[in-house]
Amino acid sequence: MTALTHPLLEACGVRHGFGTRDVPTSAQILRPKQVHGCLVAEIAATGKPHPTEADAIVASRASTPGSTIGVVTADCVPILLATPRGEWVAAIHAGWRGLAKGVIAAALQRLASEGVQLKELRCVIGPHIGPCCYEVDALVYDAMQEAFGDSAATAFEVTRPGHWKVALGQLVQRSLHFAGVSPEHIGELPDTCTCCHSEVFHSYRRDGEASGRLVHFIQVPEP
Ligand SMILES: [Zn+2]
Repeated sequence: MTALTHPLLEACGVRHGFGTRDVPTSAQILRPKQVHGCLVAEIAATGKPHPTEADAIVASRASTPGSTIGVVTADCVPILLATPRGEWVAAIHAGWRGLAKGVIAAALQRLASEGVQLKELRCVIGPHIGPCCYEVDALVYDAMQEAFGDSAATAFEVTRPGHWKVALGQLVQRSLHFAGVSPEHIGELPDTCTCCHSEVFHSYRRDGEASGRLVHFIQVPEP
């Protein structure tokens, strides 16, 4: 199976793909070293992401036309974003730690600081572990309460004392919406729980340390 695409980003004219097991990582895809934080990288004059360690990366047609940026995941949520005509693109890696630290808001603020109208931004949420397979304890529950307030509650469902199933995708949608993205511009790939579909996706929770990584990319169009 090749990389998965979404009509919201196709309409922006940007080449992009959410990885499956069959999509190899490529040196052409510029990726930060991910650390579950909230820093946002850009492509420096050296052609490398700067800062090196970050969990989101942005690129523009004005400064690096044709370049491809990306993130890798194995259960965390990948998000690919573009402006309607592809002047700016971004890729974000958001697990619960990144959500708690505000990685999505940080990436969007960065784009806003470059003049991007956030309500026009097209955002697609890629394959990640679904609530069907993602049980967490109070550490995650408390962190999300702190980050999202009472509105976090609807993303959680009690499974047993001190444990919840959590819908990370729902929290990502909320982060995007809170930051100013219009709900109709937020897309999600259907039926893509990384843990359920071993034939299609890598999953850290299912495969542990031996798990591979899914690579997700988005390319800045040529002028
Ligand atoms: Zn599942």
